[in-house]
Amino acid sequence: MNTADLPLRIKTWAQAHIWAVGGCALFFCLALAGYALWRRPQVPLAEDSLITAPPAGEVEMEKIPVLSENEWLRAGVPDTSENKISVKIQAADAYDGLLIMVNASQPLPDGFVPANLVNISETVQAMRIPNVSSTKNTMTVRQEIMGDLARMLSDAAQQDLGWFYIVSAYRDKAYQEVLYNRKVSAYALGGMSQEQAETAAKTVVVYPGTSEHQTGLTLDICDNTASLTHRYADTEQGQWLARSAWKYGFILRYPEDKRDVTGIIFEPWHIRFVGQPHAEIMARSNWVLEEYIQTLRSTGGIRARTENGKVWQISYYDAARGAVQVPRDKPWQMSGDGQGGVIVTVEGAEP
Ligand SMILES: [Zn+2]
Repeated sequence: MNTADLPLRIKTWAQAHIWAVGGCALFFCLALAGYALWRRPQVPLAEDSLITAPPAGEVEMEKIPVLSENEWLRAGVPDTSENKISVKIQAADAYDGLLIMVNASQPLPDGFVPANLVNISETVQAMRIPNVSSTKNTMTVRQEIMGDLARMLSDAAQQDLGWFYIVSAYRDKAYQEVLYNRKVSAYALGGMSQEQAETAAKTVVVYPGTSEHQTGLTLDICDNTASLTHRYADTEQGQWLARSAWKYGFILRYPEDKRDVTGIIFEPWHIRFVGQPHAEIMARSNWVLEEYIQTLRSTGGIRARTENGKVWQISYYDAARGAVQVPRDKPWQMSGDGQGGVIVTVEGAEP
């Protein structure tokens, strides 16, 4: 061995060794990252997880459209009809019903579980509705909306609109927590701090307790080409849904031009049941649920004449009053608004 070469050989060996250690470390890191990504569960049902979105803005209540001067809809009309009975209301009544509103600033009460959930696939099969499929056969919605949903899907099947895929329906809070935590983990893995990851996650997966899917009144529907993307709005099926959903008591909950009001990106696949006459009033007034509830609350009530010629009185009350007056001789329904109020809808009110 040539001892004169020793320092050089040690240096060469050390360099090679450093590269080897560095290479090993790099390989280990890549393997770890790959494993973590592989282990990360897929999220096929979370509409919000499949798309990237700009940060959601604060819910603004100011941008309420001016009421139509047409006779079909008038705001601030008090219900003065006589022949009424008093119906007791409890605090819980304000937090349930077909008009309950859920959003980032208004979560559902702790432990909220909708009553009367029914299986969608069983109904679709029993009624032999063609061209409808779902990603899971265990999906449920509230029983009160199943009839109108089935009617809508049956009518759609006559229109040659291709297959309807139900991608998501009722989701409990625990499942929403899974979706949300997955998103936080993914962002944290991408290099964000925990705080940054949580902030970013909230813009694409709604925070547990603030998902409308937890009400059992909501579905995500799309065709087999667009999946849950904005492209669905351009499909024949998506356009039929946007045009026709109100006739069956559904609204498109997150329209493109109302992002600043709802705080949620455009979701042409996400429909929400509110029933009649509310779906028609919202559709014809171009109101989202936030604007409709705010109009009722600020004016105390509206009167509307729907396309079928019926006249409706819709009144808003603070649930804390403990009782509301309802007509003895006309059909009526009551729903909470999710923020301490109740809405009483009377069919056949005097025009
Ligand atoms: Zn949805």
